[in-house]
Amino acid sequence: MSAPPSGTARDYPLARLTTIRTGGPADYFARPGDVDQLEALLRWAEEERLVIGLIGSGSNLLVADAGFRGLVLKLDGELVAIKHVGEGLVSGGGARLPKVAATAAGVGLAGIEFGVNIPGTVGGAVRMNANAYGGELACVLEWVEVTGAGGTERRPPDQLGFAYRQSNLGPAEVVSRARFALHPADPAAVKALLGDLRDRRRAAQPSGIKTFGSTFKNPDVAATEGRTAGQLLEAAGCKGLMVGGARFSEKHANFVENTGAASTADVLALMELGVARVRDAFGVELEYEVALLGGERSA
Ligand SMILES: Cc1cc2nc3c(=O)[nH]c(=O)nc-3n(C[C@H](O)[C@H](O)[C@H](O)COP(=O)(O)OP(=O)(O)OC[C@H]3O[C@@H](n4cnc5c(N)ncnc54)[C@H](O)[C@@H]3O)c2cc1C
Repeated sequence: MSAPPSGTARDYPLARLTTIRTGGPADYFARPGDVDQLEALLRWAEEERLVIGLIGSGSNLLVADAGFRGLVLKLDGELVAIKHVGEGLVSGGGARLPKVAATAAGVGLAGIEFGVNIPGTVGGAVRMNANAYGGELACVLEWVEVTGAGGTERRPPDQLGFAYRQSNLGPAEVVSRARFALHPADPAAVKALLGDLRDRRRAAQPSGIKTFGSTFKNPDVAATEGRTAGQLLEAAGCKGLMVGGARFSEKHANFVENTGAASTADVLALMELGVARVRDAFGVELEYEVALLGGERSA
């Protein structure tokens, strides 16, 4: 095996890079600081036939207890920078969305306020087609740059295959940069809107817990009579239900929290219990919203 690019770590713990704080180590781990470093790492992984895993803020990610057999990348340096360019912002794929929203407000640009409540990165949000309070990523994205072992190419949003909580990005395709097309607005008004959105979120969802946010997608079937995944879980008696150290939140049943020493196996077993209860009560099959890294369902 050829030596990995410099700065690549072995057996690197991943739990602390996720908001649920569970899971094992990556065989290889690196933080590329620019596109050249990122491309070099992807080329090395391709030569060595290593699978690629990507971590943004780890806010929608469940890492297998056994860890990840491959190379995990977390963007850094220039790839987390945010720049004001014309009537828009250009950010690295690793920039955090709340910071993008706050930066836009600071320079008097509106359109990305919904990002204040999504605790993930631009790349994670593009892959997951994240949205909140009616704000749509596709509406403000002008382009994204996608980097793979073969190089970097620019794609407009209509080539990203956006659907509910999904895009068409391949597993080793990394969102390295994005441009948001925004519009001028009074900075004080944009900041006030950010404050309102934060308050609304605080009232609706638990805060200060170890969680990856919504666990299941909202089902789109007549049998639910418009009920969300959280409402179905609550009606099926899942609020407060525990397996090991994992619990469905008392405040919002679609949130799983790590109460202290949960493992990924606890979280997955609790999720399967929720799926079974909703299936038995309503005949509806809940689908995972959380992304899995390593081990898939047998974590
Ligand atoms: C408290 C809380 C509230 C939340 N509220 C919302 C909400 O309102 N709306 C919403 O949509 N989501 C919400 N989420 C979920 C989560 O924040 C989003 O899905 C977010 O977009 C994930 O971004 P991330 O950087 O954390 O990605 P991660 O969790 O690190 O990864 C998620 C997926 O994206 C991939 N990925 C990460 N970085 C890149 C990259 N640079 N290029 C390509 N792929 C990449 C990963 O491999 C993985 O498949 C919430 C989560 C929490 C914890």
